[in-house]
Amino acid sequence: MTPNILSTDSKILTEKDLQNAESSITKMIDTENYTQNRSKNYAKTEGWFKTEPKWFNILYLGFLHLYFVYACFTFDFFENLMTTAWLFITYGLGGVGTTAGPHRLWTHQAYKAKWQLRVILGVLYASAGMNNIYEWVRDHRVHHKYTDTDADPHNSNRGFFFSHVGWLMVKKNPDVIRRGRQMDMSDVLADPVAAFNIKYFPILKFMFAFLLPVMLPVYAWKETWYRAFVSQNIIRYVILLNAIWSVNSAAHIWGSKPYDAYINPTENRWVNLFTGGEGLHNYHHVFPWDYKAAELHGTPTTAFINFFAKIGWAYDLKEPSKELVKTVTRKRGDGNHSLWEAVPYPVISKIE
Ligand SMILES: [Zn+2]
Ligand SMILES: [Zn+2]
Repeated sequence: MTPNILSTDSKILTEKDLQNAESSITKMIDTENYTQNRSKNYAKTEGWFKTEPKWFNILYLGFLHLYFVYACFTFDFFENLMTTAWLFITYGLGGVGTTAGPHRLWTHQAYKAKWQLRVILGVLYASAGMNNIYEWVRDHRVHHKYTDTDADPHNSNRGFFFSHVGWLMVKKNPDVIRRGRQMDMSDVLADPVAAFNIKYFPILKFMFAFLLPVMLPVYAWKETWYRAFVSQNIIRYVILLNAIWSVNSAAHIWGSKPYDAYINPTENRWVNLFTGGEGLHNYHHVFPWDYKAAELHGTPTTAFINFFAKIGWAYDLKEPSKELVKTVTRKRGDGNHSLWEAVPYPVISKIE
């Protein structure tokens, strides 16, 4: 695991930690075969039907998306503005719960959280209606370790559709399964809040993703069951799923690469907008342990974590030093960084 570099809490950071982290990342970016090895992995990738289709998922996701298209044309968003506002609220909460919870906290350990905040994150994450925390974290750790190779669950070298949703419609590549089994998940299982969430996930997911969000509009402002159901379980759910999936697809295909031009992940502002701060993905793949998942502050998820840091429920927020970011950017970036405008550094050779 990448060493942790803390610039927000100098008591925890020692000079040695910083030097270790800097030397390991510099070693990584200086490795001559780094780019060649990645190309070899790309070449391993083959066609679409390497593994068997998962028919239930194909039918379920297909039906969900068809219903979504129908709902977008027939649902009157202005009939009850409370219902529409609630749709945006649950979308935002599910998004922040996913990005601050299983992503930045449980996968990357980019900060620490007291049990109260972990409970909140567990509930918000359940409201997004995805896989349980164990599966999410395992798949995401494999994604970071074997990015865009056959061992990556949503290898973007297999195209937009596969990396967006297609990977959920076919059985996993044997490499993905093998690497997933090797992944150390002991930290997640040792967290009683995460372990509880994983154990009771089906019921938690049903309650917080699909039942309570529908019941509230019906009982609080007399919305009809049908409109509450469609607004929450079809429209909100499909948009949220696609926003989160777009980090694996669009933010691995379109956008700039200011921090590392030699990897697929990009800085994609549209993805960033729809995910509350997860679209600055080129940076995130270079510094996955930064709690901001971006070089700068200013995204909703980072603001959420900052708020809880203020009241003491989030702590040990990790960030790289500015110097480290600069060094990496100058060595590996594609030139799309304000740094390049300020200081004329030699232009690096572009990837072919
Ligand atoms: Zn990624
Ligand atoms: Zn990540």
